[in-house]
Amino acid sequence: MTFCFKPFLIFCSLFWIVSCKSQSAISATEDKKGPIINDTTFVNLKDYSQNFVYDMKYATPDNFLKEKVYDCAACFLRLKTVNALVEANKKFMKKGYKIKIFDCYRPLDIQKRMWKIVPNPEYVANPTKGSIHNRGGAVDITLIDKNGKELDMGTSFDYFGIEASHNYLNVSQEIKQNRGLLKKIMIQKGFNSFDSEWWHYNLKSALKDSISNAKWDCN
Ligand SMILES: [Zn+2]
Repeated sequence: MTFCFKPFLIFCSLFWIVSCKSQSAISATEDKKGPIINDTTFVNLKDYSQNFVYDMKYATPDNFLKEKVYDCAACFLRLKTVNALVEANKKFMKKGYKIKIFDCYRPLDIQKRMWKIVPNPEYVANPTKGSIHNRGGAVDITLIDKNGKELDMGTSFDYFGIEASHNYLNVSQEIKQNRGLLKKIMIQKGFNSFDSEWWHYNLKSALKDSISNAKWDCN
């Protein structure tokens, strides 16, 4: 019995190591020429543009979870999301602004923790369906001016209240214009806005991509 069981155990351990590795790290499939990159490959935004400003809230305790839940600040997205975002940023830069990024791809485990704290689909996607963040197609962003100052959007990022809604019109003309500018160009470049959060944009062509729980490499 022991004689038969040992090889089986070794086989299981190897299988576990291989399958665990494939779930835990973002990496492109490789062939002899190197990584195979296509539209849905997860890539790091900084490898495609240096023109973004980062304030990755979940890599710090400054978020509604009150905890640093990412090992390091990095913006991973599917390549098609990166391409659309880079195009949008070029348009903003022509007008004297730049995109500042709060969140990008988000592993499903983090979504589950968010849902436990805010089980309200107006603000946090139910992890059983998954957020577009979990699919690598959503970004949380704002705009900064030439001095690096954030434009006034009326509320802070992750403000869970009616005041953060595109439909809430009891805001100043300046705030309406700022939100309107962000929305107009993001929509032109292939994104949908999300009514209850002025900072959230989904790439239309990424809505049906698969959900992932892979973590990115911080090295
Ligand atoms: Zn979001």
